Amino acid sequence: MKINLTSADPTSLKTDCLVVGILDDGRLTASAKKADKSMGGIIQRLVDDGDIKGNSGSILMIPCHPNRPARRLLAVGLGKAHESGVAEYKRAVDSAASALANLPIRNATVTLAETAVADRDVSERLRLLASAVCDATYQFDQTKSTKESKRPLARVTFSVSSRAVSARARRAIRESQAISNGVKLARDLSNLPGNICTPSYLAAQARKLQRSHGLKVTVLDEKRMEKLKMGSLLSVSQGSRQPAKFIIIEHRGAAQSERPVVLVGKGLTFDAGGISLKPAAGMQEMKYDMCGGASVFGALSAVAELDLPLNVIGIVPSSENLPDGAANKPGDIVTSMSGKTIEILNTDAEGRLILCDALTYAERYKPDAIVDIATLTGACVIALGHPASGVFSNDDTLADQLLEIAVVG
Ligand code: MN
Ligand code: ZN
Repeated sequence: MKINLTSADPTSLKTDCLVVGILDDGRLTASAKKADKSMGGIIQRLVDDGDIKGNSGSILMIPCHPNRPARRLLAVGLGKAHESGVAEYKRAVDSAASALANLPIRNATVTLAETAVADRDVSERLRLLASAVCDATYQFDQTKSTKESKRPLARVTFSVSSRAVSARARRAIRESQAISNGVKLARDLSNLPGNICTPSYLAAQARKLQRSHGLKVTVLDEKRMEKLKMGSLLSVSQGSRQPAKFIIIEHRGAAQSERPVVLVGKGLTFDAGGISLKPAAGMQEMKYDMCGGASVFGALSAVAELDLPLNVIGIVPSSENLPDGAANKPGDIVTSMSGKTIEILNTDAEGRLILCDALTYAERYKPDAIVDIATLTGACVIALGHPASGVFSNDDTLADQLLEIAVVG
């Protein structure tokens, strides 16, 4: 997705779709007024007739006369975003983005960042818009035999007043673009099936990041892991024909002396549960057991693209968990890299077995903080229920920071 910023009059721009906002009391935003004037008052008439009411997230598509620069106009209800804030705004933005993504269009001009939103300045509004558009247009067709793009939207222009085109707003666009590229990488890796996305495949993708993003990548093979005494991680991979890989991705944006942030991500490319086999129903979803690792790939890609002045190290221990003659058995006792002995009661609890060795390995970097991202789903669902993700920390300040950046809006 290519995202541009402009302060030009949006109604003068040639575009496949012009998006304008309507407030909940039926008032038109500045750009909607301009568009209304150029279209002979049709928008105001449709509002007066009740075709669109302006409640948050409502939409109305209006075809434009062939002599207009916009081929169509999408009116979007913004609700009380200007008073009550970001939740209403986000609903409006998401609904506009999904309408755009489902249209047979290649580009769009969006004016929704011009509207004031309680507690959110223009660069934050641009961020919300950019991530909504990137989310809505995402599609995974890498494994389809016939590829036809159902979401052709490839370029979006956000129009704001010339006063609002600041360095901060430009930075918001640049960051949104880098983050959305990272999110796309994480989603693509996650969506690949277990027979393609193996530990070796993940290692090859890390090498690709090294070439495209200038990241330093090191991949430890099982021999090297044996030397490091990663007995816990290796006990999981011994039940699989795919060799385990221990992937390290480094971004050095600050002085060598500065302590790094280490991101550890679970890279279990398929989790059948091992000898404690999972039920067959829904097991295909266990290809997603590497989403923590995929998140680390995505985060490092964004960090490198923005060349952040930080040292960030991603560690992805990657393995499969399958039943096999050599697999872990309930009751087995293994020794981790830290020297701790572990009795395995249920072989489906393999995440902690591969992650503990990664955490021990991470100590050598003397990190400022470690964030470990993993689909430790079973335990999380039992503790918190289905919709929630869990955050557990031994540092409340870090936990608060993570929660603050994780909650959009
Ligand atoms: Mn498991
Ligand atoms: Zn697992």
